Amino acid sequence: MTSIERLSSETIAAIENAIGPQQEYVLLHRPYLPPNAWKYTKECLDTGWVSSAGSFVTRFEEKLAKATGCQRAVATVNGTAALEVCFHITGVREGDEVICPSLSFVATANAISHCQAVPHFVDVSESRLSICPDALRSRLSKVAKSGADGTVNRETGRRISAICLMHCFGHPGELDDIVEICKKYDIPFIEDAAESLGSYYQGKHTGRFGKVSAVSFNGNKIITTGGGGAILTDDHELADRAKHLTTTAKVPHKWEFRHDEIAWNFRMPNVNAALGAAQLEVLPKLLNAKRELAGLYAEQFSQVDGVQMLAEPADCRSNHWLNCLMLDPNHGSARDSLLESLNRAGYQCRPVWQPMHQLDMYSGCPRGPVDQTESISRRAINIPSSADLAPGWLAEAAE
Ligand SMILES: *Cc1c(COP(=O)(O)O)cnc(C)c1O
Repeated sequence: MTSIERLSSETIAAIENAIGPQQEYVLLHRPYLPPNAWKYTKECLDTGWVSSAGSFVTRFEEKLAKATGCQRAVATVNGTAALEVCFHITGVREGDEVICPSLSFVATANAISHCQAVPHFVDVSESRLSICPDALRSRLSKVAKSGADGTVNRETGRRISAICLMHCFGHPGELDDIVEICKKYDIPFIEDAAESLGSYYQGKHTGRFGKVSAVSFNGNKIITTGGGGAILTDDHELADRAKHLTTTAKVPHKWEFRHDEIAWNFRMPNVNAALGAAQLEVLPKLLNAKRELAGLYAEQFSQVDGVQMLAEPADCRSNHWLNCLMLDPNHGSARDSLLESLNRAGYQCRPVWQPMHQLDMYSGCPRGPVDQTESISRRAINIPSSADLAPGWLAEAAE
């Protein structure tokens, strides 16, 4: 048996042992739609309130604010739109640069680009897969200088108007350090919290450490509205601004159509919000099940040589959105054959995203060293992580 074959069979056995025998192909992450999802959606259909007006949008926003401890939540059509608006309302303008990790879903850089700004990539740390504080510090000490209008990249002459951290697979990033660096350079801090609903850093929900943040409710996220997202903030003025801009900047009036600036129609439809409102009710259950599943995987994989499971960081509570295995550097070349075997064995497993600095449209963007990013991207794979794979799930769901 080659070492790749040994790794494949032990990885398959570890997954099997953790989740038990499965009848069907096991998807990476499938949504759980509780009975109230049917009830609330039917209410939309029965009343005809399926589009962007309707009471579930407000209900969902209020529940979401409560669930995260934020003052306000503004629901949007998807997470990318939410992120774009976050950048816009914190002052990211044409020709600026926004620092972000290269290891993220492409939406992070797309949202920056839609503000006519340029992503500026920094490296991530292997322990959390989010921006590495040392990499950020050394990058800024190399390129940052003080300008009339904030911090400027001395190499490109462009203003650095935001730093965006992404909490990868739900594990909170190194917030204390990153927030401190942002303060030192007086650069607004934004969180791409698309993957981290239900994740806490030192007891405070992710997405509450900067001015604004974005979450996603895409089909594969911890809860889904079909497609959807939200802007989170503790700042009422920014929330009002986000609401205004995502609803065509319409001036409130009973019957008159008046709009006072160029804006977006990014509002979440009511039928989607109905799905979200129902799932927020079961978020604690989902989080418990996902914690249980991650624990079972961790136990199994502690016995497999050549892979490590990405662990919940100290002082954090992770939502364990997607469980992530990291191949040891000497097994990096085994990734694709391992993925082949896992998918053939009935488990949908995927590599992490291709780093964005390797994508054609972003290859020319400014960046610091990205060695960790490149190494991780060759070695990280996600394994099936749906809440209903946890043995405790059936008991909980039956309650
Ligand atoms: C899912 C996701 C988004 C937003 O995605 P949408 O599909 O537009 O909701 C943004 N950033 C990251 C890191 C994501 O995983």
